[in-house]
Amino acid sequence: MFNVKGKVIVITGASSGIGAATARLLVQNGAHVVLGARRLDRLEALKQELVNASGSVIYKYLDVTKVVQLRELIELAVQTFKQVDVIINNAGVMPLSKLEELKIDEWNQMIDVNIKGVLNGIAAGLPVMQKQAAGHFINIASTGAYEVLPTAAVYCATKYAVRAITDGLRQEASTGIRVTLISPGVTESELADHISDPAAREAMIDYRRNALPALAIAEAIVYAIGQPEHVDVNELIVRPTAKE
Ligand code: NDP
Repeated sequence: MFNVKGKVIVITGASSGIGAATARLLVQNGAHVVLGARRLDRLEALKQELVNASGSVIYKYLDVTKVVQLRELIELAVQTFKQVDVIINNAGVMPLSKLEELKIDEWNQMIDVNIKGVLNGIAAGLPVMQKQAAGHFINIASTGAYEVLPTAAVYCATKYAVRAITDGLRQEASTGIRVTLISPGVTESELADHISDPAAREAMIDYRRNALPALAIAEAIVYAIGQPEHVDVNELIVRPTAKE
């Protein structure tokens, strides 16, 4: 259904949620996937599941806040499959709270993972794609890249930044390199499980009642990848039909 057969696709944050759903859909459509995240038990289980379905999968420990680890993951992809067609900068965290709670460590974590993690993916992947004169960056933002909600000032700031960085990359990228921003609305995943602030956590339970399955976002990602090389899908926003 999707034209991704034989493509080599690196996914950050592949151990759960949108990243894992995207890996499954890509493998079902004949792509090679290179998975990165910190929870190796999850990656091993996903690899086994996909290999059992005749998928082509490798994985490696990845902390996206460390550019050297992104370089190593991309190097592994090139060594194994000779090229990298797509890098999906998907890893993200969302420990929401009001600014007055002064959860400075969590602000820094969001900035490090959500912004610097994407920049590290670009830093590690761009030289490889320039050498190939071909490639595709898919950066995962959020509807929070377009509007700010209470408790989400820092999270939304990181996603506004991802949107700005992605548009800049698209404008600067040399011919042959595609750049896509995917902005999910509320989606089933483990993203809200790590909210430490009780009020923000409680509010999220109701907010997430209409969440999309992660497959809906995976389909948007794989649609963008599957377009012909001369077609660059710049931006997709995918929300539940039901109002939040
Ligand atoms: P999950 O929490 O299920 O997945 C997040 C992934 O990011 C996990 O695989 C986690 O893996 C990984 N991750 C977190 N920190 C790091 C790190 N330092 N280095 C490497 N990987 C890391 O949530 P989602 O699937 O929902 O999140 C995927 C993306 O979608 C995020 O960017 C999120 O902001 C975005 N998004 C999600 C929405 C939603 O409603 N679900 C809505 C809008 C955007 P591990 O812990 O194993 O490292």
